Amino acid sequence: MLKNPDYSILFEPVKIGPVTAPNRFYQVPHASGMTEANPRVRAAFRETKAEGGWGVVSTGAVSTHPSSDDSPLPFGRMWDENDIRSHTLCTDAIHKHGSLAAVELWHGGASVMNRTSRIAPYSPSGIPWAATHVGFMGNLRPRIMDEKDIRDVIQWQVDAAIRAKKAGFDIIYIYAGMGYLGYEFLIEEYNHRTDAYGGSTENRTRFVRELIEATKDAVGDSCGVALRISLEELRGKPSDNYQSEAHEVVTLLSDVPDLWDVKMDSSPTDCGASRFWEEGSHEPIIDFVKKITDKPVVGVGRFTSPDKMVSQIKRGILDLIGGARAGIADPFLPKKIREGRLEDIRECIGCNICISSWHDGVPVRCTQNATAGEEWRKGWHPEKFETPGTDDAVLIVGGGPAGLEAGLIAAKRGYQVTIADKTDTLGGRLNFEASLPGLSAWGRVKDYRLYALQQMANVNLYPASEMNAEDILELGHQRIVIATGSYWTKMLWSSLEIPVGTLDKANVYTPDDIASGTVPESPVLVYDFDNYYMGGVIAEHLVNQGCDVSYATPAGHASAWTLMTNELPLIYQRLEEKHIDVTTQTLLTDKNNDIAIMRDVFTNKESEIKAKSIVIVGHRAPNNSLYQTLISQPDALSEAGIKSVDIIGDAHAPGALVHAVYAGHQYARGLDQKEAKLYLRDLPITETGPGKVI
Ligand code: ADP
Ligand code: SF4
Repeated sequence: MLKNPDYSILFEPVKIGPVTAPNRFYQVPHASGMTEANPRVRAAFRETKAEGGWGVVSTGAVSTHPSSDDSPLPFGRMWDENDIRSHTLCTDAIHKHGSLAAVELWHGGASVMNRTSRIAPYSPSGIPWAATHVGFMGNLRPRIMDEKDIRDVIQWQVDAAIRAKKAGFDIIYIYAGMGYLGYEFLIEEYNHRTDAYGGSTENRTRFVRELIEATKDAVGDSCGVALRISLEELRGKPSDNYQSEAHEVVTLLSDVPDLWDVKMDSSPTDCGASRFWEEGSHEPIIDFVKKITDKPVVGVGRFTSPDKMVSQIKRGILDLIGGARAGIADPFLPKKIREGRLEDIRECIGCNICISSWHDGVPVRCTQNATAGEEWRKGWHPEKFETPGTDDAVLIVGGGPAGLEAGLIAAKRGYQVTIADKTDTLGGRLNFEASLPGLSAWGRVKDYRLYALQQMANVNLYPASEMNAEDILELGHQRIVIATGSYWTKMLWSSLEIPVGTLDKANVYTPDDIASGTVPESPVLVYDFDNYYMGGVIAEHLVNQGCDVSYATPAGHASAWTLMTNELPLIYQRLEEKHIDVTTQTLLTDKNNDIAIMRDVFTNKESEIKAKSIVIVGHRAPNNSLYQTLISQPDALSEAGIKSVDIIGDAHAPGALVHAVYAGHQYARGLDQKEAKLYLRDLPITETGPGKVI
C-alpha cells in the first residue's frame, strides 16, 4: 500500500523489451565480491534487495570467457554449463519476490591481466587500460584483436547469454563501460584500427552493435537486452554532426538495446565518494540520452531521496532509478518509501567502504548496513531480529558508532537498553568527524541510529554521564558493553614500522586536540601514517581555519589507503587547491624548535620541513581502562548480578567506522545466542566436479 501518492510514479511498471520491471527501482550491476565460490552468500545478498522491493536485481560483472579474467579481483563466471546452477540459485531467489533478475555479461578486454588463465588480453589496438595505475599495474600488454578474435568474443557473449537465459535471467547485458572491451572499441585513443571496427564513430560503434544484435538474436525473444555504457569521455569529445561523440553513439545505437544503462567512465567519478560528489552527480553527463532514444534509461547517483528520484523521472532524465550503494546501505529502501517510512531509511553515507571490499577481493562490507554480505553466512536479516533469550538489561558505556549500533540492535531484539556517554552529545567520534570538510553525510551513521533509538520505549539515553566501575556495579544491569572508543597517540614508527617512541614536545598535537578546538600555530605540518582520510581532511580543515599547512607521509601517496575508496585522485586535487605541499616516502624523526626533522624511507637522507606545530595523524590506542578495571574484579561483578562484560569497537581494536558498526551489530546479534558460530562456510556448486576442460 502506497502511503504518499507523490511517489506513485516510482512504483509504475516499466517495459524492458519482452519483460516488465514491476517498478522503477533498479539495482544496477555492482561488484559484491561474491563469485561461484560462494553462491549461497551471493544469492542471499541479491535476494534481500528483491525482498526489499527493488524491481530489478542485477549481478556484478559475469565473465563470458577465461580471456576476461580479472583475478585476483572477484568476478562471476558464465564460462560453461558448470556455472549455470550457481546462478540459478540467485535468479530463483530474486524471482521469489516478483523481481526481475539481470546479468551483467562482461568482457574485460585490455583492462584485465588474465593472471589465472594466462591468455594474452584482448584489445582493439594493443593499448593497455590504466597500465600505470598503482594497484592495477601489470606488466603484460594486450594483443591486437584480429577478425577471428572479434568473432570469438561475440560468440562467447552469445554462448554466455544462452546459458544466462537457462539460468533464469530476464535481462542480459552487453558491457561497454569503465575501460572494458566494448568501451575500448568506442574510444578513439584506444581504438587505432583501420578496418571496419575503427576510424569513424560509426565504425568504432560497430563491435558494440554486433554484440547487442547477436545477443538479441540469441535470447531477445524472451529476455530484455541491456547496454551498459560509459559516456563521460565521449561527451567531452566533439563530433562533426552531433553535440558530442556521446550524442552520436547514442543516436547510432538508439533503439538497438531494450534498455540503456548509462554511467561514468572510471570508479572515482562513477562511484564517487560523498566527500567530493553530491547525490545525482551523473546528471550533467547522462541527461541527454532519453531525448534521443525511445528505450528506457537507467542511471545511478547515490539516490536516497524519493523526491530527487521523482524529479529525475519527471524531468525526463531517467526512467528507472538505479541504485548500487543506496541498496547496499538499505536493501529495503523501496519498501520504506512505499510504506511512507522515510525516516527509517538507512541512507548511504558515500564512504565507499563497499567498493574497498571489492578492491580487497572479499565479499561486500558496508558502514551503514552491517548485515550486507552476512545474510547467509551469519543469517542476519537487515529488518528481522531474533527475540531475546532472557530479560537481561543491557548497559552500553559509550555512544559512538559501536555503542549506538549495539544499542539499536539489542533494543530491536527487545532488550531493555541504556546508553551512557560522558559527552553532552551522543555520536562519539562522529561529532567531530562529520564536521570536517566534505564529511557531513557521514553524520547519517549517528543520526539514523539516534533517531531510531529515541523512538523506542525500551531505550534510555544518558548523555553527559561519565561512568566508572563503581557506577556500573551499582546500576543493576546484567549485560555490560564497553564502547569507549580510542585516542590518537604521538607515537612514531621507523621505516620498518617498528614503534620508536613518542614525540612529546611542545606544539605537537593529535586529531583529538584539533577536535577539542586547538588551532595550531603556523606553519603546521600534518604528519600522516594512518593513511586513510583523517590526515588529508585535517590538513584541509586547518587551512580552512587559516593555518599555513604542509603534509608529509612515509607512504607512497597522501591518504594512500583512499585508493581503495576511489578518493585518492580527488584528495590530491583538493590538497593542491588548498596549497598544501605534499611530501611522500618520508619519516618524521624529531622536532627542533620550528623545524621538523624528516628522513627518506628508502635512502635515509635527512631533510627539514618548516613547522612551528606538528599534528601527528598516526597510531590510535584503545580506551580500555574501564574494561580492564571491571574484569579484574570478577567477585564484585557476580555479586552485582553482572553476567557479562564485553568490549567492542575502537575500544577493542581501533578501526574505521565500518568496523565499529559491525562490532556493535555482532555483539547485539550474539547476545544470549546459545551457539556462538563464526559464520557458515559456503561451497561451490558444480555439475561435473573438478577437472572439466574449458
Ligand atoms: P566507536 O567508534 O568504537 O563507537 P567512539 O570514539 O566513536 O568509538 O565513541 C566512544 C564514546 O565513548 C565517546 O562518545 C566517548 O565520549 C564515550 N566514553 C568514553 N569513556 C567513557 C566513560 N567512561 N563513560 C561514558 N562514556 C565514555
Ligand atoms: Fe554507502 Fe558506505 Fe555502505 Fe558503500 S559502504 S553503501 S558508500 S554507506
